Amino acid sequence: MKPCDLCALPVGNEPFRLETEGKVLEFCCEGCRGIYQMIHDLHSERLSTQNDRVSPTDANTRRTP
Ligand SMILES: [Zn+2]
Repeated sequence: MKPCDLCALPVGNEPFRLETEGKVLEFCCEGCRGIYQMIHDLHSERLSTQNDRVSPTDANTRRTP
């Protein structure tokens, strides 16, 4: 099992993937992926629409601003 590319924890059976130039990174959680994107200034459609996303899994964990 791969370690998370940010925090090195095991990514589990359903890693959060981030495709970059030439390679695919895997993260243990959406938070790690988001942080990695910020650190490396990676802009994806997913990130740019972060505030608008609505999914069944996020509905349970979303925070009120
Ligand atoms: Zn992680």
